[in-house]
Parts: sequence; structure tokens; C-alpha cells
Amino acid sequence: MNNYQGEYPVLEISAEKIKNNAKVIYELCKKNGIEPVGVVKGYSAIPEVSKLFLEVGYKTLGDSRMKEIIKLRMSGINEKMMLLRIPMHCEIPELVRYADSSLNSEIETIQLINEEAKKQKKIHGIIMMMDLGDLREGYFDEKEATEIAKEIEKNMNNIELLGIGTNLGCYGSIKPTEDNLGQLCALAEKIEEQIGRKLEMISGGATSSLPLLLENRMPKKVNHLRIGEGIVTAKDLPELWDVHIPGLVSDPMILKAQIVEIKKKPTYPIGEIFIDAFGNKPTYTDKGSRKRALLAVGSKDIGDYSKIIPKSEGVEILGSSSDHLITDIEGYEGVLKVGDMLEFDIFYPAMLYLSGSDCVRKVMI
Ligand SMILES: *Cc1c(COP(=O)(O)O)cnc(C)c1O
Repeated sequence: MNNYQGEYPVLEISAEKIKNNAKVIYELCKKNGIEPVGVVKGYSAIPEVSKLFLEVGYKTLGDSRMKEIIKLRMSGINEKMMLLRIPMHCEIPELVRYADSSLNSEIETIQLINEEAKKQKKIHGIIMMMDLGDLREGYFDEKEATEIAKEIEKNMNNIELLGIGTNLGCYGSIKPTEDNLGQLCALAEKIEEQIGRKLEMISGGATSSLPLLLENRMPKKVNHLRIGEGIVTAKDLPELWDVHIPGLVSDPMILKAQIVEIKKKPTYPIGEIFIDAFGNKPTYTDKGSRKRALLAVGSKDIGDYSKIIPKSEGVEILGSSSDHLITDIEGYEGVLKVGDMLEFDIFYPAMLYLSGSDCVRKVMI
């Protein structure tokens, strides 16, 4: 095996911008009585970047994959870690060894965690997830959830019931509101009554819950959030929600890719149009002959090309194949030549692919 890593494509990460955003969100949360978890899964938990969260005050890092949590431990991070995806039975030994807490929705799994924690002489923290309508993970039945909370509290010595939480805006695209998060708080109160003590964490969701904070409409009992996108790409709220959090910058990570061909070509394919490399049948508009640049980065590295945005005026993305990005540069004012590099802003889905691709060099500046 050799460790060849070409110069481009590069995922360039600004340490200063990540720290800035992490700090802005941390302070916004703290001001509202909320402890945020820094969610690092979006960029494959690159340890150097994850350490920046800890530098600005985050007490816990969250990730959905045990492999990434273990990678962070191996890089020397000793702070708290939370597993965000409901654990698989096969990863429970690692979960107990390397993570401090996890989100859960199945009593069998919680029992197994309890047994494993006993074996390892540890206490594992659990947030019970409630499904408030987004229809991904969580208890749907409040009565069942309350019974299980009592069961954990009474019979599981190696589990600490930290609290309850929810996830919204993932599968069902449901918006966090005073109403649904209010339900979460009401349930928390019921559980607290039943177990005779306060719950430490009422976890009210992710980046998509931040608008409620800005509008001062977050139910007071919510004291915990899990924030990733709003820090590391910080694009969804300004671009998709038209919500602007003062002080955030929206380009902490950018893609740099190299041009491998520049030619003037027709804009309408020639011959019988059949299917593209992914089995789709796209449509093409004939705009005559235009100058285009072919870049050495493709869907394997970025996923869907609509999730990246050229930073230069006059550069427009036409399409991509696994290995190439095809751009129209007819309107670009300067001079571009083969070997030049173009920069792109990235949305969260592109960051997922770029950070996970072996063929993309990651550079922190
Ligand atoms: C990924 C994830 C988050 C963080 O979501 P962002 O939109 O990146 O803030 C929070 N909670 C759970 C359960 C997640 O899987």
C-alpha cells in the first residue's frame, strides 16, 4: 500500500471559521439555558476539526457511528462522547467501552447495554428518544415510554437515565415547534413525577431547532440540543429557512478541484439520447456552442452535484459523472486554463461524501 494523495481535489477546512461558528452556537445555546453537543459525523469526525469544538467549550461530542467515536478516542480525546444512532446489538461492547451515552428506543437494547456495562464496571447514560411525528427513531406511545423509564430507573443499575429527547426534520421533514417540543416537555414532567426526580437532559433536536431559540419560542424545559450542520456548513438555516444567526459564517469548508479539460462544445448531446451513467434520463437545453471546463472530481466524491455551488461568478455546473464535474464557464470573466483550480461552497450532503472519500485530501488551514 502506498499513501499517495494527489494535491486535488481538496476539502479545505478553515479552523478559524469552524471555531467561530462553534462558539456562536455555543453561546446562543448557553444564553438560553441549553447545553449543546457538538455533532461531528457530518465531516467523518476528522479529529483535528473535532478538537476545535472542545477548545471553545463543548463538553460532549456526538456521532452516529461507533467507528468514528473510536477514531476520536484513538486520537487522544477524553471528553464525553454520545452515540446518536440507536445502537446495534453487535456494537454494544464498543459502545460501553468508548462512549459515555447513547440515544435509545428499544428496551432489549437497553437491557443488553446494562449487562455489558455491569461487565465493564461502568455506568452508561441513556436518552430515551420520543417520536413526535417525524417517524424515524423513538417511542411513539407515551405510556410505553413512561413504563420503560420506570423500569430503567428501578431495575438497571448500570444505566443512568439522563433524560428524553427527540429528532425532527429528518425523515418526515417535520419542523420543530413550540407545540411538538412542548409535548416532549410535558412527557418529561410525567416521567419525572413517576420516577420521583428531575431528568438531567431534555434534548430538543438538532440544527433545525435553533430558529426557535432565535424567536424566543423554545419551551423552557428543553435544555439540550445536538448541533452539527448549523456549525460545520451553516448553510441550511440561511439558505433553506431564511433564518440568519448573527455571527455565523457559511463557508467553513470548501471544495477545491482542478480543471482537466477546457473546450468549446455544443450544449445539446449529439446522437440518440438514452440514459446517463446512473441510469437516469436527463433533459438537455440547446444553448448553442459554449465554453466548458471539465474538473477532476465527481459524484463519487460529492454525491449530488446540486449540493455544491461554484464560488466564482460565471461558472455554472452542468452535470457530473462518477469522476468528473462538467461546468459551463462561458460567462467567466477572467482566463481559465487546464491546471487551474475552481472553488465550491458545499452543502451538508456534499460534505458527507467529500469527508468520507479517500480520493479527497483534507486540509485544515
Ligand atoms: C445527525 C444528528 C444530529 C445533528 O443534526 P444536525 O442537523 O447536523 O445539527 C442530531 N441528532 C441526531 C440523532 C443525529 O443523528
